[in-house]
Amino acid sequence: MAGKFYEAPIDEYLPQNGNRGYRVSRYELELSYRVAGNRLTGRATITAVTTATHPRFALDLAQALTVAKVFVNGTKAAKFTHQHGKLVITPQQRIPAGGALSVVVLYGGIPKPVRGPWGEVGWEELTEGALVASQPNGAASWFPCDDHPSSKASYRISITTDSPYYALANGTLLRKQTKASQTTWVYEQPEPMPSYLATIQIGHYRKHRIGSVHAPVPMQAILPARLRANFDHDFARQPKMLEVFTEKFGPYPFEGYTVVVTDDELEIPIEAQGISIFGANHCDGRRGAERLVAHELAHQWFGNSLTIRQWRDIWLHEGFACYAEWIWSEAAGGPTADQLARAARHNLSRQPQDIVVGDPGPRRMFDDRVYKRGALTLHALRLELGDSTFFNLLREWTIRYRHSSVTTEEFTDLAGHYSLVPLRPLWESWLLAEPLPQLPPHGGASIA
Ligand SMILES: [Zn+2]
Repeated sequence: MAGKFYEAPIDEYLPQNGNRGYRVSRYELELSYRVAGNRLTGRATITAVTTATHPRFALDLAQALTVAKVFVNGTKAAKFTHQHGKLVITPQQRIPAGGALSVVVLYGGIPKPVRGPWGEVGWEELTEGALVASQPNGAASWFPCDDHPSSKASYRISITTDSPYYALANGTLLRKQTKASQTTWVYEQPEPMPSYLATIQIGHYRKHRIGSVHAPVPMQAILPARLRANFDHDFARQPKMLEVFTEKFGPYPFEGYTVVVTDDELEIPIEAQGISIFGANHCDGRRGAERLVAHELAHQWFGNSLTIRQWRDIWLHEGFACYAEWIWSEAAGGPTADQLARAARHNLSRQPQDIVVGDPGPRRMFDDRVYKRGALTLHALRLELGDSTFFNLLREWTIRYRHSSVTTEEFTDLAGHYSLVPLRPLWESWLLAEPLPQLPPHGGASIA
């Protein structure tokens, strides 16, 4: 799209998403949702600072939702158009660069998921209730936003829905108020969050605590009563998992952690900020999905606290979360990370070697080979550095870049400080070339 503010895309993987000319610092969403009929109405207040002087600016918002009114910096209605997923707003007065921008959008409709190469993402109706799983570009299915992972902001999400339902959003529950047949739930998420990790979960759920009341990180679960016994068994080791990850990765980055199990089956579990969402099928009473319980928990460090600036660096989320599965297996007395890495390498060696993990392309960014080879990259690094140096590096990584945006280069630069030998050959062979490298022999290259 040629034009005054449609400059180069923010991200070449999702050229339609993200916007220039401003930086959002806060979203305040006041939503109302009718489960019967899947009807959403919303008032979004977006606080931003302009980074350039433009006559117009855009927000991402799906066409399934209709905008009634927009206000900019005050009470007078602003002009807008809403086409091709872009809400383009023309303020009455031009706002100079560095100026404060407060935008109120009144909107509503019947939300539906965004369809793309990654399936359907965003707001999804359940048999009874709704869920939001937006990675990578589903956030615009339920609120107007600057839909790009490099755009992180604080949130207040208020959701009003029919009283028998439990409604969850990111952050801490500030208050809950029931009036007649409707209940309003207000959540505050103070740590910065990218739009794709913002979520709402609505269902016939009950809440209960996981682990000790004195645990350093409060953990809770919301799920249908019928799954309680299975859940208690399948997620029993999650507090131990948190302990292991805190030791290996550094302090847990948020105030709490909530696991949601939906009454419906889900193809895959998904992470949100401070929350992970599993399907009833992941709660089989036999710990059949414990690998994924570890994977989703690890995303709180890798993906949610440290979020990639560009989608091409997706291995910084998925490779790390996959490696956390192996770390957990080892800590829990199962196969060691080294055994799992060698098995994963063997499997990969029998698949096409036509993927570059450091830049897999938009269609293949969630390809399992990115996950596995990303994890193998970390294992190769661990063998190179030795265990204690490797985990010192991971802890510095999560502490130094806590709650911010990251790139592969920032990780490889930091890793360079932990190595006596140049790591460039390792990054080039694992991240930038297609042929699958050999893993060094176990313990062979350790300098620890
Ligand atoms: Zn993942």
